[in-house]
Amino acid sequence: MSKYEVVIGLEVHLELGTKTKIFCSCPTTFGDEPNTQVCPVCLGLPGVLPVLNKRALEFAVLTGLALNCEINSYSKFDRKNYFYPDLPKAYQISQFDFPVGKNGYLKIQSNGETRKIGINRVHLEEDAGKLIHSNDGLFSLVDYNRTGVPLVEIVSEPDLRSAEEARVFLEDLKKILLYTGVSDCKMEEGSLRCDANISVRLKGEAELGTKTELKNMNSFKAVQKGLEFEVERQIERLENGHRIVQETLRWDETKGETVTMRSKEEAHDYRYFPDPDLVPMEIGVMMVEKVKKELPELPLEKKERFVSQYCLSDYDAQVLTGTREMAVFFEECVKLFSEPKIVSNWVMGELSMHMNAAGLDFCTIKVTPEDLVEMLEMLKQGKISGKMAKDVLAEMFNSGKKAHQVVKEKGMEQISDQGVLEEIIQEVIKTNPGPVADYKAKKKKALGFLVGQVMKSTGGSANPQMVNEILRDKLKNV
Ligand SMILES: [Zn+2]
Repeated sequence: MSKYEVVIGLEVHLELGTKTKIFCSCPTTFGDEPNTQVCPVCLGLPGVLPVLNKRALEFAVLTGLALNCEINSYSKFDRKNYFYPDLPKAYQISQFDFPVGKNGYLKIQSNGETRKIGINRVHLEEDAGKLIHSNDGLFSLVDYNRTGVPLVEIVSEPDLRSAEEARVFLEDLKKILLYTGVSDCKMEEGSLRCDANISVRLKGEAELGTKTELKNMNSFKAVQKGLEFEVERQIERLENGHRIVQETLRWDETKGETVTMRSKEEAHDYRYFPDPDLVPMEIGVMMVEKVKKELPELPLEKKERFVSQYCLSDYDAQVLTGTREMAVFFEECVKLFSEPKIVSNWVMGELSMHMNAAGLDFCTIKVTPEDLVEMLEMLKQGKISGKMAKDVLAEMFNSGKKAHQVVKEKGMEQISDQGVLEEIIQEVIKTNPGPVADYKAKKKKALGFLVGQVMKSTGGSANPQMVNEILRDKLKNV
């Protein structure tokens, strides 16, 4: 056991999914030609007047509520002054002392334990542009399309105690944010970005150690690996009698190590001051109440309800509530077919398998809850076998056809007609005297052979349970 304790706090930047930017009407679509979604307002040209996008504020309030924050009734925008080429006006509109939300928490589950991680604040700000550096290092290009896209910054308390816990926190946070619908949370498109503050201290010590900041990690894997590396690096330095230097680092994926970006000596003084162009915001009770109505049941509550209401295992409930869409699909099915465990098996098993293979999600598949339930009913009534059901679902998934259509077209209906089966079985008994004699001589394998013969002569469509019963019965009288 290490004698050190790890202290990690996270800052998450989230691009809100509004159609237009935070202070102008430029669109926010990702991946358009550079500099085609800009106007004097988002470029910050002299004499322009920013106007707040109300939807962005509502999304920030929704984010705050989902993270159990108090919503400030008085909130305002401030200018954060710094010079950087992706920010032509040399300041970013952000929030300094009156963020939209404060003092919240997020419950995470790590190693079977539920922990409450404090959320210090949730505030609104505008995004900056994007720099593209040439490989030879001779020039840089700048794309201002992203400038002015609304961001919510979520700052956690330094409550995380390991790299693993930080990853779990981010995964759970992303899940919650996706449930609320405030952002698409695509890390690969920069919709969700994460910085971390890391320090280590001897166990039992109250004072925090010197921290370093790890910037711009763009995947959950990078977060965990970057943090693990940084924790090890700090402990090793301390063990060798060195001190930790306060600095900003980035994670170099190819080298597998953290690299210095800048030391704190060069740190900026942002000289925050209230933005004179934007009036302070009153976030009234009415507005908060209105936004509260948009707040869905969140993943953890939903998971707990699934366990108690449908008697599902913790694991099943966890998987089914992985996305809001999957949970909705499952519940729609259960409304029509009241055997949750069976529905759960098919949704998590066969259906998910086809979805993963095809790269589709619950919003894009052709199979509806009604369709899946129709197939499950046929299976339950013995019209199709378990094996057939899998084939039927595959066909439904690929073609979008209904279960009864597939069964009819492929002649897949299971033979469950007593009379028809009896006839076939009589024939099999007559033409296989050897195995019948073996069965009579208590050779167990012979029954399997005879069942196989029946299945063969029906092209696999006989109801196997009925075949077994009838066959045993008939063999008694041979
Ligand atoms: Zn604009």
